[in-house]
Amino acid sequence: MPIIKNNISSIQRRLQQAASDAGRTPNEVLLLAVSKTRTSTQIKAALAAGITSFGENYLQEALEKIDQLSNAKLDWHFIGPLQSNKTRLAAENFSWIHSVDRLKIAQRLSDQRPSTMAPLNLCLQINIDNEPSKSGFSAQQALAAAADIANLPNIKLRGLMAIPQSRTDLKAQRTPFMKLRQLKDQINSLLDNSQKLDTLSMGMSGDMDAAILEGATIVRVGTDIFGPRDR
Ligand SMILES: *Cc1c(COP(=O)(O)O)cnc(C)c1O
Repeated sequence: MPIIKNNISSIQRRLQQAASDAGRTPNEVLLLAVSKTRTSTQIKAALAAGITSFGENYLQEALEKIDQLSNAKLDWHFIGPLQSNKTRLAAENFSWIHSVDRLKIAQRLSDQRPSTMAPLNLCLQINIDNEPSKSGFSAQQALAAAADIANLPNIKLRGLMAIPQSRTDLKAQRTPFMKLRQLKDQINSLLDNSQKLDTLSMGMSGDMDAAILEGATIVRVGTDIFGPRDR
């Protein structure tokens, strides 16, 4: 599967270019390979090309792959919508959840994360363009909930995640990412020193360059690594 390897090389070059344009070092930005709808074989091809962090959207599908690949030392990130009846399996099988969209989900993940495991890393999903169709905290809601979430046991609140509206122009793409960065700074002014957020999960295949220019620390890339998804 040389295509996946080649795609990863070009994404890494793109990531380095955007980081250098932003005056940042490329290792400040984690390339998360979004493997929803992809097979374990495709994931192994990405692993062979040096990727160790994978993002999944659907719990049942993810659990099968986590099981099939349990010999590899992979870091699994859950990035899809999370219903409260699914939080236990999420808390037990992932190292990150990017899609926390209400306080109750954070509380359940905290209650259900086994205390024998490392704290579960959480990001609050922010509906940064205030789209009625999208889930996520509004900026105001996130400001109100962040300290309560940061104080929960067995989890570590790491930062913010957003999926902005799709835009084609680089300058227009940067605006919602800039807002997310500013919201992170605002939230940090409310948190204790030991609790400061260090993560901005933003940027996908179509807009990762803009996201890196605005400070992304995790970019979530599916299509440009694995090819188009069949719908
Ligand atoms: C599918 C998905 C991605 C990857 O999108 P691509 O356009 O394929 O790179 C990133 N983030 C989330 C939350 C997704 O659901």
